[in-house]
Amino acid sequence: MAVLPIVVLGDPVLRAETRPVAAVTDELRTLVADMFETMRAAEGIGLAAPQVGRTERLCVVEVEGQAFTLFNPEIIAREGTIKWEEGCLSIPEVFGWVERAQYVKVRAMDLDGTEIEVEGRDLLAVCMQHEIDHLDGKLFIDHLSFLKKRAAMAAWEKEKGKYPTGLRILVPGEKAE
Ligand SMILES: [Zn+2]
Repeated sequence: MAVLPIVVLGDPVLRAETRPVAAVTDELRTLVADMFETMRAAEGIGLAAPQVGRTERLCVVEVEGQAFTLFNPEIIAREGTIKWEEGCLSIPEVFGWVERAQYVKVRAMDLDGTEIEVEGRDLLAVCMQHEIDHLDGKLFIDHLSFLKKRAAMAAWEKEKGKYPTGLRILVPGEKAE
């Protein structure tokens, strides 16, 4: 397994269209293992393929000890609303309050190629919606009001100089910034 570089805001892959996955290959199983390792090294709770420069419709989430691999995820039910202060591994040190559904049911294909349904409330629901947004080229900052987005972009202007290559390189075992 390997910790992959995470692309940061500004890389066009974060806005690119993703492609549905027809079958889970060995190469994709390795990618999933690497994505989990990368997410954990970054102390994140979710990671989507575009964040590691890929265009498959794939994301991984891990919330409160529950880990899911989601190929081709789609939200098939949603209920209620919740506001959560979100961040993103691709936009380090930038945060914003986003309103989302408090409950979602997601249909996806898991690592075995089996169709699964995952129900999530609160943080798991927020996380799955955030990651599925990534697969549609959408970022949490897109949900902010004009003024809040402007403030978030100003915060990012100060941060982005830390990533001159456009990549965030994590060293396993080191505290993530
Ligand atoms: Zn994100």
